[in-house]
Amino acid sequence: MCGIVGLVGSSDAAREAFLGLTTLQHRGQDAAGILSYDSDGFHRVKNLGLVESVFTRDNMQSLAGSIALGHARYSTIGKGDLIDVQPFVISYPYGIGMVHNGNIVNVSELAQDLKIRARRHLLTHSDTEVVLNLFAEGMAKATGEEVREQFFETVCSAVSDIFKRVNGSYSIITVIADQGLVAFRDPYGIRPLVWGKRTEPSGKIAHCLASESVALNFLGYEIVRDIAPGEVIFIDQDGRVQTRVLDARPPRHCMFEWVYFASPESEIDETPVYGTRIQLGRSLGKLLKKQIEEKKIEADIIVPVPETSRIAAIALAEELGIPYREVLIKNRYIKRTFILDSQEKRQKAVNLKLSPVRSEIEGKRVILVDDSIVRGTTSKKIIELVRNAGASKVFFVSTCPPIQHPCYYGIDFPEESELIASGRTEGEVRDALGADEVVYQNVEGLKESIAAARRVAHPSSRMKGENPCTACLDGCYPTDVASAGNRFAADRKADRRK
Ligand code: SF4
Repeated sequence: MCGIVGLVGSSDAAREAFLGLTTLQHRGQDAAGILSYDSDGFHRVKNLGLVESVFTRDNMQSLAGSIALGHARYSTIGKGDLIDVQPFVISYPYGIGMVHNGNIVNVSELAQDLKIRARRHLLTHSDTEVVLNLFAEGMAKATGEEVREQFFETVCSAVSDIFKRVNGSYSIITVIADQGLVAFRDPYGIRPLVWGKRTEPSGKIAHCLASESVALNFLGYEIVRDIAPGEVIFIDQDGRVQTRVLDARPPRHCMFEWVYFASPESEIDETPVYGTRIQLGRSLGKLLKKQIEEKKIEADIIVPVPETSRIAAIALAEELGIPYREVLIKNRYIKRTFILDSQEKRQKAVNLKLSPVRSEIEGKRVILVDDSIVRGTTSKKIIELVRNAGASKVFFVSTCPPIQHPCYYGIDFPEESELIASGRTEGEVRDALGADEVVYQNVEGLKESIAAARRVAHPSSRMKGENPCTACLDGCYPTDVASAGNRFAADRKADRRK
């Protein structure tokens, strides 16, 4: 998972890319980069670390031009080396820069094909470089005057080839030197991509594309719409726009964006993240009411595990009529635990991240609310923390249903053996976590929460999104992942050997 942003027509494109990336920092904290373009060519700054540590007043001055791309990286492929940090650039044809959010399932076979058939040597471990080479191949097919006349047709042909060959999740923004900005979203629209525009003081229209609407709102762009699954958009340097849906399939947006990943201020595919989390809390409340008798869940306070679960916990407290208390205090200087790239780092971060308010917890029966239980590392530690603070009972509830299968589309839970819910009943998860009870959201409740949030925010929405990707819950993957299993297992073994 990563955060991406692209701008064209802005008088301060690189600075806006920087500000946009700060609003998307939650999507990736390993590294960041910005690429800009002007008549002197491409300018690029990238490094490991948070956005605010990568960019300085000095290095930002080199990023001239009215067109820019930005990327905040979360490493799932590659080992977090500087060489894998985006944006990437290729010199032929035109000069093309690219940023990508997602994960390519068949990257190994595509890389092999590029090497043998096209004799292209890849320089990084990144799947984005593979897509960039394929896109460059497609763009190189048309030459001469034909290009100028039919540039958009060439773009469509190159992107169509990608849609046919590249299996996985990909929201991509590219800069093409002296032409403009091209962006596209995979045919299932697994990862988000939203488009906005703004009238500049000169009267020209500036355009911005970003992973989430929070970036557009922050930068003062009016939301035009989400890029549709299988759609390509070309915006030239004068702000003229051409779009086409090249491969429309039933959308399978990632449910985990609403549950955990996206910022609460964002709307993804016309569905507010905040509203969805409220609905998730209500839905969980209804489930819990049914189970209160059966599982003897009597509680004095409802406590969110900060930060993501707060919104759902408020709605749950309202639904159950139990006081809501924020008594796990977060040290804001520790990175999000789930996103950290090793088990060891995650374990240490949990210890440092939360402190309980003992005076409010002692002797109380506590319902702890979290957005999800992935490996169980964090949940187990937090239950222990709350018990040590004097809670007489600790019930653990998850706004997401049990995560039982790997994700091949960019979220870091690749092996079933690492997932606490895989092959375990709710009771077994409870025992493994050391809770008095564990209650999960169900898949129907999750889907209905997403649909209800959309209905509330956009009653006349025609967006089709009733069937989000829930593959990590039910194993029904939108694309063929047969080849991915072996590759991910091999990657993980290699990681463990390090
Ligand atoms: S498998 Fe799960 S985390 Fe991965 S894209 Fe699908 S819903 Fe999202």
